[in-house]
Amino acid sequence: MKEGYFSKKIISWYHEYHRDLPWRNTQDAYKIWLSEIILQQTRVAQGLPYYEKFILNFSNVKSLANAKERDVLRLWQGLGYYTRARNLHKCAQEVVRNFDGKFPKTFGELKQLPGIGDYTAAAIASFAFNEPVAVVDGNVYRVLSRVFGIDKNIASPEGKIFFSKLANQLISKDEPALHNQAVMEFGALDCLPQNPHCEDCIFQKTCVAFQQDLQLILPVKIKQQKVTKRYFYYFFVRNGKKILMTERTGKGIWKGLYDFPLHEEKRPVRPEKIIGKYFPLDGNEKGSQISEEYKHVLSHQIIHARFIQIDWPSAKELPPSLIHLNARWYSLNQMEKLPKPVLITRYLGDHSIL
Ligand code: SF4
Repeated sequence: MKEGYFSKKIISWYHEYHRDLPWRNTQDAYKIWLSEIILQQTRVAQGLPYYEKFILNFSNVKSLANAKERDVLRLWQGLGYYTRARNLHKCAQEVVRNFDGKFPKTFGELKQLPGIGDYTAAAIASFAFNEPVAVVDGNVYRVLSRVFGIDKNIASPEGKIFFSKLANQLISKDEPALHNQAVMEFGALDCLPQNPHCEDCIFQKTCVAFQQDLQLILPVKIKQQKVTKRYFYYFFVRNGKKILMTERTGKGIWKGLYDFPLHEEKRPVRPEKIIGKYFPLDGNEKGSQISEEYKHVLSHQIIHARFIQIDWPSAKELPPSLIHLNARWYSLNQMEKLPKPVLITRYLGDHSIL
């Protein structure tokens, strides 16, 4: 393939077929950054309402930096990967503190900010500041591996370096923003993972995958990842219209979100055994109900959760084991406003509590 051919071809395709998305018509680094963080591991259709909510609530980096972390997490609720939301907030604060509220302009400087890796730094540097640095995401791996017939493992460090070099050789020095957008959009609309539109593809004549029928083999991704199983036993304790909740602290998942007092086991156990450990029930409670198992799948772990519902008499003091878990009573109204993991909102929704 002649130098420049790939870039010219894909940019002219982009002019004709790209979707009109709100963050495409701007060179505002704040909006570009926000959209890129939201769209990591999230489909456009799912991410779009979140992007709009964030822009509505925080129209610039200063207003986001000044927000309370709890409010940022509340807006993020449902998108998962909450570290992204916490880093979003930290990054905004750093831009305000160290860069006078303006995003730095180069790939190298952007990469120093919290939550900004190679991909996001390249996206902001090229889209907002026209630096010719290539973005490499799942779409880019797919398009390049197929068009050029590359079977290197995209999950390996060598594979990543190889594709990054190739993408940076191919990028248009005159129109880096358009080039990057075009490759990603082409992967998202035409060169699809399962049913690529090869019949009327602009690269049909030169695409190695098409010529050799390798579309479903490329890109090669071999990942060896251990999935951990966790067993959660939640105490859903009710006192009239108040519910006990705790803020998750520490380094684990869902830090800063609110859930119910939790007991965790490495293996499944009978919930009755756990109830006795925490609640020396004396007969004044209305007994306990135990939910079916809820399965919640995260990227590296599967959570099996049971909810133990206990109606607690208002006059009775809570057992010390729960006070130790920092549990506090919240009204339904207050609870609605707290940022919560999706697992918790699923349970509340299933039981018509919220
Ligand atoms: S011919 Fe098919 S596999 Fe090759 S780039 Fe086009 S859509 Fe992708």
